[in-house]
Amino acid sequence: TLALPSTVFMLQEQEACAAEMERTFIAIKPDGVQRGLISEIISRFECKGYKLVAIKILVPSKEFAQKHYHNLKERPFFNGLCEFLSSGPVMAMVWEGEGVIKYGRKLIGATDPQKSEPGTIRGDLAVVVERNIIHGSDGPETAKDEINLWFKPDDLVSYTSNSENWIYG
Ligand code: ADP
Repeated sequence: TLALPSTVFMLQEQEACAAEMERTFIAIKPDGVQRGLISEIISRFECKGYKLVAIKILVPSKEFAQKHYHNLKERPFFNGLCEFLSSGPVMAMVWEGEGVIKYGRKLIGATDPQKSEPGTIRGDLAVVVERNIIHGSDGPETAKDEINLWFKPDDLVSYTSNSENWIYG
């Protein structure tokens, strides 16, 4: 019985660490880059309290886009989507923070900007589903796969930000 409280404490500590280290893959698609929305989108994540741990700009090949969207290959819009993603610079990022995968999707808003709430990135900044400016991983497994596809392990920077004490208490 003596061991129980410390075991519980250790589990809570482990959970806290695991939650803090959650990471998601976010990409600003070519329309977002061309429209000059990089800083606006980054600031939504930054102002929320999430931490940027990797970033790069690149033009993905169509083959790369097909890999990224492999789970949609049966959909009628797959080809157009992959053509579009590879049509210009994409800003690829990894963001870290508690609940960042799920809450990042909330910040982004519904897939179709016509259905995205005002206040979300797509709700405020996009109009049609084919040009919805941003991608975000939809779950922990996808996040892991997408981060591995777009980045090398060395590209990810682990660091402590002084503001974390003010964000997490
Ligand atoms: P999300 O990007 O919100 O995770 P999906 O994974 O379902 O959404 O789709 C990937 C991307 O494919 C969307 O962001 C959008 O650009 C495009 N897309 C989704 N549905 C359609 C559609 N009905 N017509 C054209 N493009 C679509």
